[in-house]
Amino acid sequence: MIANGNGRIVTTDVLVIGGGEAALRAAIEARRKGANVVMVSKGQIGSSGSSAISDTIHSAILSPEDSPDIFYQDILKGGKRINRPELARALAEDCTARVQELSEFGIELEFERELVTPGHSFPRRCYHKAGLGAHITRRLREYAQEIGIQFHEKTWIVDLLNEHGLADTGPDRLPGSGDRICGALGWANEDWIVFVAGSTILASGGMGRIYAQSDNPIDVSGETIGMAWRHGARLQDMEFVQFYPYRLVSPVNLDLYTKLFSNGAMMRNLQGERFMAGYPRKELETRDVICYQMFKQGKVLLDISQVSDSDLKATSPRLHGLLAKGYAGELEVQPVEHYSIGGISIDQYGKTSVKGLYACGECTGGVHGANRLGGGALTESLVFGARAGFAAAEETVLQTPDFVTKIEQELRHRKPPLFFTEEGKQATAAIRKKVQEIMWNQVGIERSAAGLAEASVQLGQLAAEAEPYLPLLDMVRAAAMVARSALERKESRGAHQVIDFPGERDEWIGNLMIEGEELSFWPLLNYAAPKRNDAQPGNLLP
Ligand SMILES: Cc1cc2nc3c(=O)[nH]c(=O)nc-3n(C[C@H](O)[C@H](O)[C@H](O)COP(=O)(O)OP(=O)(O)OC[C@H]3O[C@@H](n4cnc5c(N)ncnc54)[C@H](O)[C@@H]3O)c2cc1C
Repeated sequence: MIANGNGRIVTTDVLVIGGGEAALRAAIEARRKGANVVMVSKGQIGSSGSSAISDTIHSAILSPEDSPDIFYQDILKGGKRINRPELARALAEDCTARVQELSEFGIELEFERELVTPGHSFPRRCYHKAGLGAHITRRLREYAQEIGIQFHEKTWIVDLLNEHGLADTGPDRLPGSGDRICGALGWANEDWIVFVAGSTILASGGMGRIYAQSDNPIDVSGETIGMAWRHGARLQDMEFVQFYPYRLVSPVNLDLYTKLFSNGAMMRNLQGERFMAGYPRKELETRDVICYQMFKQGKVLLDISQVSDSDLKATSPRLHGLLAKGYAGELEVQPVEHYSIGGISIDQYGKTSVKGLYACGECTGGVHGANRLGGGALTESLVFGARAGFAAAEETVLQTPDFVTKIEQELRHRKPPLFFTEEGKQATAAIRKKVQEIMWNQVGIERSAAGLAEASVQLGQLAAEAEPYLPLLDMVRAAAMVARSALERKESRGAHQVIDFPGERDEWIGNLMIEGEELSFWPLLNYAAPKRNDAQPGNLLP
């Protein structure tokens, strides 16, 4: 590390941005390949991001009748057939090995042999008895420390660094050039910290907090997706945002388990009707279907009259405790933003369209198409984390001492970012709130062409206001790209439901890609046909 009184420089082979499951798995794989690895996160590594507050449900193929091919077909069906086939294939084929090898890190998962999660053909649900994601990520953190991965916590990444150095960072940097990424620029302890790296992995989570109602933690706000775009990375499927139907919002905020509904829980509207009764799997339909039906009802109440006391205690101990204390009022459930389906476009090894930049986990797009199946996100983090870590370590390019000296000189003249000043905090809080309301009201579960057009204009204006406050600008732009892509897709598919264009339309089988100022549609036929990998399932690391 070099310190010059105005900022510090850290050099490494592989830089991993993020502190969740994808980042930890990527860092571990790169380190196992012999690379020096630095992880940097806004929060604490292993305790920040969605991974730590998630349930622990992973998907793996463990029933004798099940196979990667069947899982692959389920992922495509759930994704309404616009998944990137090679990514869905990688998920289906690597999932079992990645989930099983968690035991190497001291994490034992249980296998649920009965419950078939919505959209899956067989039981594939693996979970940790403790029930909270932090039990997994904290153990991965310990393992990462044991093998010598360096941590930088409470450090915001505010920009990526390319081969032109600090001169080519900041809000004026226009997207499109795609110059090689050589690390990132961070802010920690009221000072700059520059990470100069041979390869850089973004594992910085989704965009949850661009919405007013989300179950994501506050550090998941999508700015790194806008940042990657500013540096030329291609984004895809930004219009697809998953909402989670099983969120208790009154009398307490609580995510409920799917299993509660297989144990007899029901949803009713204010007329007392079980509005999912006409669907084959009732409240266990896929999330896109239930959320849209819930949205149409207005207020939705949870009915647990048919759930036994022991099942309630087992699946939802907090709710059980509340009722045991005598609560007898209504239980209201509401869909909330849950998962960003779209994001940075990657290949099977987590490579983005920009040299030196890799991505994995929820910040990426393409794996899940128009809708994600339950249990697929944490598994995705393991599968693509390992792949990205492997590829980034293989392809790391050492930066020259001259480059480091240049950065050192540039750092001397770098002013502190306005975003972190008191004035900045106030201004950005107001802009962020407006963005969240627009996204929830106009780019939410049910969309309209007029609402999306208006949202796009309003978000464009807010981006202009956010210009002096860099990480916020990237967040607003990410939100604007969700609205803009949603406006472009003139059909309803999966999690994207537009009242003006009901139903799926064949001409929209494909993906909306954003590269620089261009928004283009790639029909799925443009992709190479999905190939069955030759290697045995679970041995697909390149
Ligand atoms: C309540 C809840 C329950 C869930 N349950 C499940 C489940 O049971 N099964 C399942 O498959 N999925 C589940 N999910 C989804 C799943 O948790 C996420 O998709 C997954 O954890 C994403 O992992 P990640 O590593 O990509 O990102 P995250 O875990 O979100 O980590 C992102 C990291 O990046 C850091 N970061 C972000 N921006 C910056 C920046 N500018 N500078 C520095 N650091 C930054 C954050 O601090 C954080 O450490 C759930 C999600 C929620 C919210």
